[in-house]
Amino acid sequence: MHHFYYKDSELYVEDVPVRSLVERYGTPLYVYSAQTIIDHYTRFDHALEAVDHLICYAVKANSNQWILKQLVNLGSGFDLVSGGELYRVLRVGADPQKCTFAGVGKTQSEIEEAIKAGIYSFIVESEEELYQIDKIAARLSVKAPVAFRINPDVPALTHAKITTGTDLNKFGISFCQVEDILEKSLKLPNVFLKGVQIHIGSQIQSVEPFLLAIQRVIPLVEKMKKRFGAEFFDIGGGIGIVYDKALESGEHAWWQERNELLTLNRYANAIIPLIKPLGMKILVEPGRVLVGNAGILVSQVIYVKKGVSKKFVIVDAAMNDLVRPAFYEAYHQILPLKEQPNRHLEVVDVVGPVCESSDYLALDRRLPEFRSGEYLAVLSAGAYGFSMASNYNSRLRPAEVLIQGNQIQLIRKRESYSDLVTLEE
Ligand SMILES: *Cc1c(COP(=O)(O)O)cnc(C)c1O
Repeated sequence: MHHFYYKDSELYVEDVPVRSLVERYGTPLYVYSAQTIIDHYTRFDHALEAVDHLICYAVKANSNQWILKQLVNLGSGFDLVSGGELYRVLRVGADPQKCTFAGVGKTQSEIEEAIKAGIYSFIVESEEELYQIDKIAARLSVKAPVAFRINPDVPALTHAKITTGTDLNKFGISFCQVEDILEKSLKLPNVFLKGVQIHIGSQIQSVEPFLLAIQRVIPLVEKMKKRFGAEFFDIGGGIGIVYDKALESGEHAWWQERNELLTLNRYANAIIPLIKPLGMKILVEPGRVLVGNAGILVSQVIYVKKGVSKKFVIVDAAMNDLVRPAFYEAYHQILPLKEQPNRHLEVVDVVGPVCESSDYLALDRRLPEFRSGEYLAVLSAGAYGFSMASNYNSRLRPAEVLIQGNQIQLIRKRESYSDLVTLEE
């Protein structure tokens, strides 16, 4: 479900015509719907009602402070993967006791910052990291809370670049090594076991991989609770969203509960029977499913170029603004800001100005015939959009606006040329 829709042939976000935002802030422009984030969070929270739970939003999906602030207001916790993310969430008033810190390469200073902040738990991904945390905690004269990330060795049935839960991935501690490392951890004076975590990948579109992973680790989780006092089981994130029909042109924009679709309720209903009997606190780390469909990237067509065998719609947004198509071969729905039902359809590539052949937003896509000067929206760009943006080709990163009802807030200014060089002076 989201709050982007056509009214009188104009694309709206909540109560605001997107066109008016473009006129005010220019393009490329990220536009977010606050109500969509609130709806998704609330739905997920309700879906997990049957268990004692904490939603830890995966900050890397979209780390703008104003988005984080929305989640703080909803009572969300946060899943962090860097000192920078810790800095961001503390700045917006997050409760450190609702924060977990994951990642295979936590540095000494990051560990120290997280201990000093008083985070809920580290999610430990290797034996060496465990010793490092123990050492730093000793220096600070505290006992640090740790959870083990178990790699359950199950395929997530998603794109290879976002599969994390097999023995071929760098993440987590192998299933067969966990008990050994656990025994060693018990001898360390400055860490204590707080929980167990799994996270098998992203954009997962069926419940089976989740069920398989949970089933595989449950005996171990039980043991870690009974024998070693683990209090939480963190089942990770990874719930996929609809990218291809995020908005049915001409209809009001409600996310269809299609049969094949992994809805939050379907996910929760499938996993609750497995996790409820554990009697533990359940953590989830959703990123994409909370913010993905809450954002669009609006862009203007610069030129339309007829090649010999292809037609290219060249727009002012590029792979540096939204890298998902280039990086993951991701599909994002593209719509005109102005809907014209009888417009001629043609097959085109929508490409940006960056000097790379992988710089595209859509390939061989059947779209209404766009003209130069016209605006289009790339949907479902709220997750892994701006947070992965760069200045490649010395392009300025886009501005971001957050809409709630008829309220408009510029939550990040467009960069200027001087921003490109300030740190080089
Ligand atoms: C990226 C990540 C998530 C969030 O994944 P989504 O697919 O966005 O839900 C959760 N946990 C960890 C450890 C991650 O690295």
